[in-house]
Amino acid sequence: MSQSPKPIDDAKPSDGPEYGEEAFAGISTEHLYQKLQPITLISTNWGQTWYCIPLAVFEPETVEQCGTILELARREGKVVRAVGVGHSPSDLACTTGFMIRMTRMNRIIEISSEKRCFEAEAGITLNELHQELGRHGLAFSSLGSISEQTLAGVISTSTHGTGLAFHLIVCSPTQDSDLFNATLCGIGATGVILRVKMTVEPAFRLKEIGETLPFDEFIGKMGELAKRAEHPRFWWFPAAGTVRCGYANRTTEPVRTNGSWFWDRLLAYHAVQAILFAGRYITSLNTYAGRFAAWLASGGSVVVNDSYKVFNVDCRYPQNTTEWALPLRNAEACIREFRQWIEKEIRDPNGIRPHFPIEMRETTCWIGIVQFKPYGFDTPYHKYFDHFERVVFEHGGRPHWAKAHKLKPDDLRKLYPKFDDFRSVLDRVDVKGIFRSEYVQRHVFGVDVDPRVFKKRVLPGATR
Ligand SMILES: Cc1cc2nc3c(=O)[nH]c(=O)nc-3n(C[C@H](O)[C@H](O)[C@H](O)COP(=O)(O)OP(=O)(O)OC[C@H]3O[C@@H](n4cnc5c(N)ncnc54)[C@H](O)[C@@H]3O)c2cc1C
Repeated sequence: MSQSPKPIDDAKPSDGPEYGEEAFAGISTEHLYQKLQPITLISTNWGQTWYCIPLAVFEPETVEQCGTILELARREGKVVRAVGVGHSPSDLACTTGFMIRMTRMNRIIEISSEKRCFEAEAGITLNELHQELGRHGLAFSSLGSISEQTLAGVISTSTHGTGLAFHLIVCSPTQDSDLFNATLCGIGATGVILRVKMTVEPAFRLKEIGETLPFDEFIGKMGELAKRAEHPRFWWFPAAGTVRCGYANRTTEPVRTNGSWFWDRLLAYHAVQAILFAGRYITSLNTYAGRFAAWLASGGSVVVNDSYKVFNVDCRYPQNTTEWALPLRNAEACIREFRQWIEKEIRDPNGIRPHFPIEMRETTCWIGIVQFKPYGFDTPYHKYFDHFERVVFEHGGRPHWAKAHKLKPDDLRKLYPKFDDFRSVLDRVDVKGIFRSEYVQRHVFGVDVDPRVFKKRVLPGATR
């Protein structure tokens, strides 16, 4: 849902108890429901890989309504899941309890060109922010591949970005810094984020130069190629044995775009999807789809545009995906090992035929794989993903928090020295556990929650 941001008129959050239990004393539970008018519906993520029917979906517009929902949850003993636009590729945003969709809390509170910062309600999408920031000559320094997400969604999953009696809490690097740090990748477990203040920078343009290299040439000088630009990214097409490289740097050159409906939509999108669909039945076609897509992407290219337009790319079709970060020093060995396995599989008549591309981005080294769902239909991914996860884990990888993984508290404790500090913050701010969704229970608290609880496709019209 997209609404243009409007100026805010309700009071600023404070440390006060305005929406604590005492504020609702004397109001009947029935009256609280009437004030909020919840709806019930099937909720699915962007990738069409997880489905849930929340008990109720609320779309608050004010801080007071958020407080009212939390009071209802407390009275009814329900778990609350604040969500953005549900783009997380795992069941992170799924719940059988109360879902709070934050997208109506999308107002800009303040933008300052001088201070290069803004404050906005947490449900605003990055796309909405780009427009508003652009009007003030400002931009984010870096972004992921899309901008449909909400600000809070990006913060909560560390997109490469209270309980406490339901009182409003302000936290910052200097004020309740433990809660602030925990919320930076809080996966919705530290409470409902209402407003965010963030620094940005003057708007800028990027010039991205693209080239395609044979895999062997790429892997031998990967470290050097990654230093060629402020924002390097690499897309590996295993079936073609090539890597598409993009090097984006700042520029003041005029806007320059390329591409056409015929090449970018008809062939690169629709024709490839049709081949992938046929590849569900004749698996070898997936190899041809990979080579065709690699060929379409090959050749030199130069694009100049506003930064967010260059950062964002077309992520194609619904998909299963997983992405891991590993230390740069381990990247080459990890990729080589994974490649050996993929090539063995491709040679095996019964082996897997991976979809493409495998994306590699360098902050640490992020490696992401996909199996598309052409026209929304399933394709096999378990064997491919299981092997990939085993290899990256052995090379010191850590999973992306928005994406599905199988790690349990004991694994996470080894990877994150502050894992138990995170749990302590949750124990402190969410005493009654109302923000412990199935995902949080499973991965953070080690509760035996079926990892496939939200996997089943729910039929339209189904009731719980
Ligand atoms: C096509 C596609 C491309 C992507 N590209 C990238 C990429 O380039 N880089 C990258 O790192 N990630 C990427 N992602 C992942 C994406 O950025 C995250 O999944 C992000 O969280 C999605 O935001 P959302 O608003 O949909 O949040 P949701 O999926 O709705 O929620 C995500 C988490 O945020 C919590 N949350 C949301 N709002 C609030 C709130 N107000 N208060 C408290 N908690 C809240 C939820 O409880 C949940 O834990 C991509 C995803 C897709 C589908």
